[in-house]
Amino acid sequence: MTSTPLDIPGWTHVYSGKVRDLYRPTPASTDSPAPEGTMLVVASDRVSAFDYVLSPGIPGKGELLTTLSLWWFDTLDDVPNHLHASHALLGTGTDEARALVPPEVAGRAMLVRALDMFPIECVVRGYITGTGWLEYQESGTVCGIPLPSGLSNGDRLPEPLFTPAFKAELGDHDENITFERVVEIVGADDADALRSMSLSIYARAAAISESHGVILADTKFEFGRDAASGEIVLADEVLTSDSSRYWDARAWHDGGSPTERMASFDKQIVRDWLAANWDKTGTPPELPDEIVERTAARYRELLERITTTA
Ligand code: ATP
Ligand code: MG
Repeated sequence: MTSTPLDIPGWTHVYSGKVRDLYRPTPASTDSPAPEGTMLVVASDRVSAFDYVLSPGIPGKGELLTTLSLWWFDTLDDVPNHLHASHALLGTGTDEARALVPPEVAGRAMLVRALDMFPIECVVRGYITGTGWLEYQESGTVCGIPLPSGLSNGDRLPEPLFTPAFKAELGDHDENITFERVVEIVGADDADALRSMSLSIYARAAAISESHGVILADTKFEFGRDAASGEIVLADEVLTSDSSRYWDARAWHDGGSPTERMASFDKQIVRDWLAANWDKTGTPPELPDEIVERTAARYRELLERITTTA
């Protein structure tokens, strides 16, 4: 599925990641209703696995993930976040809101402060799986942190771990790094701040998720600095099923096979299907309708569970 940035009057497309498209206000445009220093982050329905963007997309995904991200920003309202004050206007249906964000991206766009992003993916793992599990099997460590022996895939860790990655350029793989390397990249004070903010947000979000019957196995945050105030700000998407692994708590507690235990609300369905049907050479095959529908249904179910009062 190719990325086709939209032509939005007053906005200039500046970047497309695997899933999101970024726009900045067109300088000196009379069309531009956007406040100074803002950016529009538009989530598409694109889905990626193993760093490939797949076809077709998952209908409604951009909107579902934006809604979930906004719910978390709102719930964690004492954590400084990148939503611009005018963002509150979106969804009000007023002329002012319509002028700010065109209808074709309404519901899947965030109006944010443009920050100087730290090139670090701030990953927190409360449970061991994925690349963490692979590393553990080889060396008994995750991101160089030694762990007790005898852990199984999907087990809860003795305590949540900060396992950062260096954010690769588009097309490259992110690279797991040690905390010492984060210190070298951003300096000791900022490295400490990124770690403690990440661990504290994870702990709160994991407890909230658990009260909704969902395990937050791991997640990834991105932070940036507000150039004007110097403040470190939570940015990007937060605690979505693209940036996190969410599992059904009852299934996990019931045990069973790894697949049964890690009944996920993220794109594991896509990853599993792809792993079984593609040898990772050439172009990935088209996702069958059934996989697309099952994935969409799981994304919807997660949003419903998390945002519905427990
Ligand atoms: P990947 O496809 O591996 O996720 P990506 O992270 O570059 O690559 P997206 O997540 O699709 O791609 O795009 C979102 C981009 O916007 C990221 O590069 C993220 O760092 C950046 N970003 C998010 N919030 C802000 C912000 N407030 N200011 C500046 N950049 C931001
Ligand atoms: Mg990203």
